[in-house]
Amino acid sequence: MSDYKDIVVAVDLSEEASQIATKAARLAQLHGAQLHIVHVIEPLSFAYGGDIPIDFSTIQEQIQQQAEAQLHTLCGRLNVPIERLHVTLGRPENEVHAIADKLSADLIVVGSHGRHGLALLLGSTANGVLHGAKCDVLAVRVG
Ligand code: AMP
Repeated sequence: MSDYKDIVVAVDLSEEASQIATKAARLAQLHGAQLHIVHVIEPLSFAYGGDIPIDFSTIQEQIQQQAEAQLHTLCGRLNVPIERLHVTLGRPENEVHAIADKLSADLIVVGSHGRHGLALLLGSTANGVLHGAKCDVLAVRVG
């Protein structure tokens, strides 16, 4: 097996995220790989899809700022340069695939569950990332 060169770790903002990212960072170190951190913000309009005529832009901006602050701390702790932090809007599994493809990543690391999957063996995002990925996927068991 050849060493991984570009590893993408998908993190939500749950308590387990730091644990998963730390494991991915260790793996990157062992392989001499570059680690990229990806976080996807789901637009509020996805949840309320035009049913309610509300302008979500201010609250969406606040969510983004808070997420970025938390993720910058994580990058600092793991020595990941900010250029390798990717924060984007969309559906998590789609965006994780798109970023992994763009970076020609050879490994995607996800948590076996996060905010949505506590009762499931494999959370829905982890499952979505696994299916359709063009590279290896490692589901880190948490909790
Ligand atoms: P879930 O399917 O929500 O239980 O999440 C399982 C795993 O998918 C998490 O541990 C993360 O690795 C990843 N994930 C979930 N939501 C996101 C998100 N918004 N952005 C990036 N990764 C995510």
